[in-house]
Amino acid sequence: MRILIAGFQHETNTFAPSKTAYDDFVRGGAFPAMARGADVLAMRDVNIPIGGFIRAMEGPRTELVPVIWAGATPAAHVTRDAFERIANEIVASARDSDFDGIYLDLHGAMVCEHDDDGEGELLARLRAVVGPKVPIVASLDLHANVTRRMLEVADALVAYRTYPHEDMAEAGERASGLMTRLLTRGARLQRAARRLPFLIPVNGMCTMLEPAQGTYRALASAEATHNAALSFAPGFPAADFPECGGVVWGYGDDARIEGAVADLTHHIVSREAEWAVPLLAPEEAVRQAMAIAAKATRPVVIADTQDNPGGGGDSNTTGMLRALVACDAREAAIGLMVDGAAARAAHEAGAGHDITLPLGGQSGGDPPFHATFRVEQLSDGRCRYDGPMMNGKLTDAGPSARLSLGGVQIVVSTYKDQMLDRNLYRMAGVQPEQMKILVNKSSVHFRADFQPIAEAILVAKAPGPLRADPADFPWTRLAPGMRLRPLGPAFQAP
Ligand SMILES: [Zn+2]
Repeated sequence: MRILIAGFQHETNTFAPSKTAYDDFVRGGAFPAMARGADVLAMRDVNIPIGGFIRAMEGPRTELVPVIWAGATPAAHVTRDAFERIANEIVASARDSDFDGIYLDLHGAMVCEHDDDGEGELLARLRAVVGPKVPIVASLDLHANVTRRMLEVADALVAYRTYPHEDMAEAGERASGLMTRLLTRGARLQRAARRLPFLIPVNGMCTMLEPAQGTYRALASAEATHNAALSFAPGFPAADFPECGGVVWGYGDDARIEGAVADLTHHIVSREAEWAVPLLAPEEAVRQAMAIAAKATRPVVIADTQDNPGGGGDSNTTGMLRALVACDAREAAIGLMVDGAAARAAHEAGAGHDITLPLGGQSGGDPPFHATFRVEQLSDGRCRYDGPMMNGKLTDAGPSARLSLGGVQIVVSTYKDQMLDRNLYRMAGVQPEQMKILVNKSSVHFRADFQPIAEAILVAKAPGPLRADPADFPWTRLAPGMRLRPLGPAFQAP
């Protein structure tokens, strides 16, 4: 069996300040850097979907033909240039040779400058080249906005089941199971799909908490009962197009798949109110954290969720820093604050010196924080993730520094990297376990590595382009009637 494998991942926040160009895919950022050929096969040991797919499929009777793996940090629309260059490379490989199957490692929320549905377009172009008989299987992120075209063109799609995404490689393994089923049976599976009538806030999707935890338990038990392959993607509620939102879908041998998908959808929709999340104003979050930390030996972690670079933020808004300083927080740290000019100034001044500058605040509407900071420590911004998310990933946040202002330590970097691993603090000399308060520019992924050391976790609504309450976005193109949050107002076209 010859199977073409490729990866093309992007989660597009159409409200974010910066577009996503080809060079962003070359660097990777939140993902490994762009890879081709043998370098794709070398990803077998990374906890990402294609790694799980390769490990599960490789063997004497299978030839895996790698093309490209490209993923970029979430931001606004993928440029036409980036989409066409990467998609053409994958489609050209499919055209140049005969394959028995195609596996794609996709995110499922890619909006391009010229097409709302990047993955659907790529899948359709591949289908046009290989014809109806060659199985096309893809794994998707839990935050996929799954479109009708994606479901119709692919033979099978499977999504992650954890957020933080600890099961990326497992999703690739599940895709390999469906690929094997399709290759050996030679027939298409029965498919069913249902769309949710309300947007779920990103923070509400965390599978370490209810109701998401119980939903994925119900999904697994329904799979066993119905001999089905079920997926639930709650969606990425920051992409302004008509198919934004959650979808339940699945595959089975017969029409019973309809019942399995309907039952799981009912499980989710009947708990609509539970998918909402309490959100705190910045100073309220800091005051609550100080009160809890005063009686605790472990840090209180505040999610600066709206500036999450994993959701399109530039990781540089200053609302939480302002709140920490205004409340005179002590033994507090915030990271990563992305500001290449400040990092450069710190490296020029050297550790132990003071620098006066405007820090952060380049995102739309958020002012920089002007102050005199002490340069505490310099760093090259390189570290290796030790936590459960993307364990083993080598990361390079560029020249970095730890600045201090009063009792607040600020880890400043040159490039974006979501604060989801404690080593991103340690690289600049912050020992996270010893702090009273940690403010992480992350929504949920940080919980994998920080929940074990946290006394409590709070979610704050400070400036940033990833609105924690999806009803706060200026939507213009959602499906008519879509509720903008659990039990919230219905969308009406402006
Ligand atoms: Zn995701």
